[in-house]
Amino acid sequence: MAVEKVDTLVIGAGQAGVAMSEHLGRRGLSHLVLEKARIAESWRTARWDSLVANGPAWHDRFPGLTFASLDDEAFAPKEKVADYFVSYAEKIRAPVRCGVEVKSVRRDGDAFHVETSEGVIKARNVVSATGAFQRPVMPALVPARPGLAQIHSNAYRNPGQLPEGAVLVIGAGSSGTQIADELLRAGRRVYLSIGPHDRPPRRYRGKDFCWWLSVLGIWDLKVPAPNTEHVTITVSGAYGGQTVDFRRLGNRGMTLLGRAESYRDGVLEIAPDLMENIERGDASYLSLLDRADIYAAENGLDLPEEPDARRKEPDPACLADPVLAVNLTEAGITTIIWATGYTVDYGWLKLDVLDEKGRPVHERGVSKVPGFFFVGLPWLSRRASSFIWGCWHDADYLAGYIAEHRGGQHADIAASAS
Ligand SMILES: Cc1cc2nc3c(=O)[nH]c(=O)nc-3n(C[C@H](O)[C@H](O)[C@H](O)COP(=O)(O)OP(=O)(O)OC[C@H]3O[C@@H](n4cnc5c(N)ncnc54)[C@H](O)[C@@H]3O)c2cc1C
Repeated sequence: MAVEKVDTLVIGAGQAGVAMSEHLGRRGLSHLVLEKARIAESWRTARWDSLVANGPAWHDRFPGLTFASLDDEAFAPKEKVADYFVSYAEKIRAPVRCGVEVKSVRRDGDAFHVETSEGVIKARNVVSATGAFQRPVMPALVPARPGLAQIHSNAYRNPGQLPEGAVLVIGAGSSGTQIADELLRAGRRVYLSIGPHDRPPRRYRGKDFCWWLSVLGIWDLKVPAPNTEHVTITVSGAYGGQTVDFRRLGNRGMTLLGRAESYRDGVLEIAPDLMENIERGDASYLSLLDRADIYAAENGLDLPEEPDARRKEPDPACLADPVLAVNLTEAGITTIIWATGYTVDYGWLKLDVLDEKGRPVHERGVSKVPGFFFVGLPWLSRRASSFIWGCWHDADYLAGYIAEHRGGQHADIAASAS
C-alpha cells in the first residue's frame, strides 16, 4: 500500500488542533489534521445538554472570529462552541480529515510512522492535540450494587436521564457544581461533596472574572501556586452567569458535604473538612476582590464600587452542623455522579515521551523526541493553556518552533510533502 507523506501531522481537531492548523498555515508550513470523529467532537458529545462556555463570548474564542449571533457578554451553548470551531476551520481552510483515527505513532528512522484507520502516514513532525480531558477518572469508592446507578459527569446529559430519587454529586468543580445546581432546579434532592476549590466572582465592578484574570496576569501564571495543583476552579456561565455560592445552594435545599472519604456497609463516610473547604473558597474569592480593587485604584479605573460582593449569605444548617456519614439507602440516593475529573489517553503513543504515571513530559509542548509536540494540555505554558484562549497562543509558539527547526533532518519527507 502507498505510504502518504506529510510534513507536520496534527492529531485531533478540537480547538487545539484547529489552532495548530491556523498557526502552521500562517507560516506556510504544510500539514494535515486527522480527527477520529468530527471537528470539536468533545463539545458535541462528551458534555451535558445544557452546558454553556465558562467564559463570555468575547473571551472564550480565538482572536480571528467572533461568535455569530451571540452577544459578547453571553455564554455560548456547547453546540454553538462546536459550530464556532467548524466555522473557524472553514475560515482558515484547515486541512482536516475527519473520521480517521490515529492508532499508533512510533519513530522510524528520521520520521514518524503513523498507523491510522485508513493506512500509514510518514510524518516529519507530529503534534498531539488529542485533549487533556479524555478518560474519566472515577474512584472505586462505592462498590456496584442494585438500585444505585454510578456515572461519571461525562456521561451525564440531563435530569430526566437519571432514575427517580436523590442524587449524590461527588466533586464540586465547575462540572459537579453546575450539574448539582441543575438537578436541584429540576426538583431533585441533591447532595454535593465539596473538596478544596477556588471560587472566583463571576463579575466584579462590572467586569467578568475572565477580564480580571487577564489584567491581573493570572491567566499567564507559569506554574500553579504551591500546594494548589489539586485545587479545582468552580465557575459557571449557566443561567446568564452567576457566582457559584455554596451557601446559597445550601440555603436552597442542597445538602453540602465534605470530601467523600470511605464507604462501609452502605454508609459513605465524609471528611470533617466542609467548613475548611468552603472557607478556603471564600478566601480565594475575597483575595480576587482585593486584588481587583488595588488594580482599579492603581490604574485610576472608573469602575462602580460593589460593596455587596463582600456580603456573605448565612450558613445553611448543613454547613453549621455538617453531615459526617450518609446512609445511601436511608437518604434515598439512587444515583452517584462522579464529577472527579479526567486524565489523558495516549494508548496510541509508542514513544518515550510520558513519565511513569503516563503524563506527557515536555517543555512548553516540546517533547524530548525531536519533532514530537503536545498542545492543549493544562499548564503547557501557563494557566490558560487548556482553555480556548490559551491553547491558541501555545499553538502559535509551537508552530514558530517547528518553523525554526525546519530543514536539515527528514529533508526527503519535506520535499515529497510540499
Ligand atoms: C466539561 C468541560 C467544560 C469545559 N468548558 C470550557 C469552557 O467553557 N471554556 C474553555 O476555554 N475551556 C473549557 N473546557 C476545557 C477545554 O477547553 C475543553 O476540554 C476542550 O474541548 C479542549 O480542547 P482540545 O482541542 O484540547 O481537546 P478536545 O476538544 O478533546 O479535542 C481532541 C480531539 O482529538 C480527537 N482525537 C483523540 N484521539 C484521537 C486519535 N487517536 N486519532 C484522531 N483523533 C483523535 C478527538 O476526537 C477530539 O475531537 C472544558 C472542559 C470540560 C471537560
